Amino acid sequence: MKLIQICPQCGQPGLRVNADAVKYNIVKFKRKKKDSGTKWNICTNPDCECSYFSGKEFFRTSDLRRPLFFKDASDNVPVCYCSGLTKGEVKDAVRNGCKTIKDVQKYTKKSMSGHCETRNPLGKCCRNVFLRTISTSV
Ligand SMILES: [Zn+2]
Repeated sequence: MKLIQICPQCGQPGLRVNADAVKYNIVKFKRKKKDSGTKWNICTNPDCECSYFSGKEFFRTSDLRRPLFFKDASDNVPVCYCSGLTKGEVKDAVRNGCKTIKDVQKYTKKSMSGHCETRNPLGKCCRNVFLRTISTSV
């Protein structure tokens, strides 16, 4: 059952994420004794400083290991979190003729390591964001 939770900071509905992504991305995350059942969510509102939340408990974007691609407009924001590829690097690769993910990976010498589920802050594969960044960099 997917129950949508509301961000305690901005009141907008969040997205459910797996706990492993939260533990990896929150630097000071401390595992509580009865933590196993905590349902974590992420706030997708670009203007809200909340990152992950569960009920009234929340972390800020400043608690994150790396910035969130949908809350940070800078070129230093990661596009592919498992390889550390940034938006600026993708833009540069596209300007130099890269058209596909494979092109970009070859050009930047950064390939996916298959750790998206824990390293990507959404706990999902970076592929869709990667493709969107390529298409908007043209
Ligand atoms: Zn929020």
